This record gives sequence, C-alpha cells and structure tokens, in this order.
Amino acid sequence: MTPIVLGIDIGGTNTVFGIVDEHGACLADGTIPTRAQEPVEHFLPRLFDATEHLLEPFAATHALKSVGIGAPNANYYTGTVEHPPNLNWQGVTPLAASIRERFGVPTALTNDANAAALGEGLYGAARGMKNFMVITLGTGLGSGIVVNGDVLYGADGFAGELGHVTASGVQGASNLMLTGRQCGCGRRGCLETYVSATGICRTAFELVAELSTETVMASGVRAFTFETLSAAELARLAHSGDALANEAFKRTGTVLGVSMANAVAAFSPEAIIFFGGLANAGDLILRPTQAAFDAHVLTIFKGTTKLMFSALMSSNAAVLGASALAWKEVA
Ligand SMILES: [Zn+2]
Repeated sequence: MTPIVLGIDIGGTNTVFGIVDEHGACLADGTIPTRAQEPVEHFLPRLFDATEHLLEPFAATHALKSVGIGAPNANYYTGTVEHPPNLNWQGVTPLAASIRERFGVPTALTNDANAAALGEGLYGAARGMKNFMVITLGTGLGSGIVVNGDVLYGADGFAGELGHVTASGVQGASNLMLTGRQCGCGRRGCLETYVSATGICRTAFELVAELSTETVMASGVRAFTFETLSAAELARLAHSGDALANEAFKRTGTVLGVSMANAVAAFSPEAIIFFGGLANAGDLILRPTQAAFDAHVLTIFKGTTKLMFSALMSSNAAVLGASALAWKEVA
C-alpha cells in the first residue's frame, strides 16, 4: 500500500483538495464551492462526499495516512476554526475532530499562510531551510513564520499575523491616535491595508487625487473603478509605462520592504518568500521592496536574508501546503 495524505484548503469562495504522495505529487484533486453563507453543518457533508469520491479509486492500492487542512482563523493547537471573518460558521467549529472521526486518521489544521509555509519548506523554495517566512499577498496579507524548523504558533495558536502589524499613522504619545487606513479587523493602519492586492488598488486611487493632473490624465487607471481595478490590471499598466501604476508599485514595495526589515529584527530568517496575486507582479513589486529593505534593515542583518518568490506559484500550492501539514502529523 502506497502512503498518501489528503490536503484540504478552505477558502472564502472555493474549497480545494487533493491526494498527495510522499514526493509531493498531487495524484488527484477536486474543488467544491465553499458557499460562505452556509452553516458548517451543510458544508461538511458536501466536503465528505467530494473527498471520499476522490479517494475511492485509491482504496485498494493506497493507504490514507492523515489529513491536513488550511482554513481561515484555524487554531493548530485545538483543531478548531474560530469566528472566521468570511464564513458564516458560528462561533468555534471543531473541524479537525469531525474530519478525524470520519476518516479515522490523524488530522491537523492551521491557517492558509502557515500551510503555505509548510508547503514551501517541504516542496518549494525553502527546502532545507530551518528559518524562513512566507508572506501571502492576496486580498489581505498573511504570514507563516518558521523558526528552527517549526511553524511559530505562539501561546494561543494564532501567532504570525503580520498583516495586522501597524504600518502607518501612529500619532500622539499621551493620546494615542491611529490615522492610517481602516482595516477589516476594526483598527487602522494595518500592513495589509497597504500591502495586498486590495491595498495597492487603494494606493492607486489615492494617487489619482495626489499626482499632477498631467500624470493622472495620462494614466489608464482612470478607466477603472475600485470594483474593476485589480493588482493584475495595475501590473499590466505599469509594464506598459503608466507612471501612476508604477508609482503605486513603488509605494507598496516601500511599505513592504520597511515592514520586512522590521520582521527580520524579530525573526532573522534566511529567506522571506512572497506568494500570491501581488507577487505575480514580479520585479515590479520586488525591486522597490528590496531597495527599502536594504535601506532599513539593521546592519547586523545586512546580506543575511534573501527576498524571493515562491517556487509553488504555478502549481496547486494550497493543496500542497495542507498536505505538508498532513505529512508532518505522521512524521
Ligand atoms: Zn487589521
């Protein structure tokens, strides 16, 4: 019997899953709509049906060893999903226990950025590294921090929320005021409100109000609304020489580079690996990030941390990340 694991990634729109062998080959995969408005009691039977259907042809020749799950607000210690912001799952859901009961194998869950870090460590750009960080640049900014070979979970299981480190707008010492951009977490000035696919679009529209009339009139950004502009469209404009779009990448990269220099002071990683929609912009985002990083990183850390892109960008990264967590459970 060939050992396999099941990796599941629960996103706000789709849930993807796959059967992965010890070499990181995805033998079969599938997807179901998550239906964020549904209670978890309706979601689970659909997930069980779809994953059991996927596993069926392997039953005679392969042995399922474990299940790994990436999910929003997932707590590795307790195996629970707690008050997920984009899902209508009430309170605390014992997701790992439900899946363990169904499949009868060890089951673990963590948030998607931690799963991405485990995937990068096992199959991707961080192979062989014991200290690294993966920064996911999607709708928000997620971070998975690996220290001495282990994901950093912290005291309560939720460590590594660099997206909600305050990156801008702290004013007033005795009467603290945060004046940065409003964040979905309820506070202001969080890093992800500047550095994410959404954040860079906010920056582009701020630049429409700020830059010279000539620059703004020449910019393709004017053809978009906040609903229709995307990081990919901005990258296309920037590549075609659009000055406003290029400035948006420069400012976004600058905030990212300074923030990463701060993170290096805390964690001293060998590499910081960028993943996700905004990372697809390549040099457009990496060049200003590297420049700001080099200018702000502490002297003792100069030259010690590589900034790089994920090696899993084009493959089924979410499933591989969840499967890396699953393999860790049987190791
Ligand atoms: Zn926040």
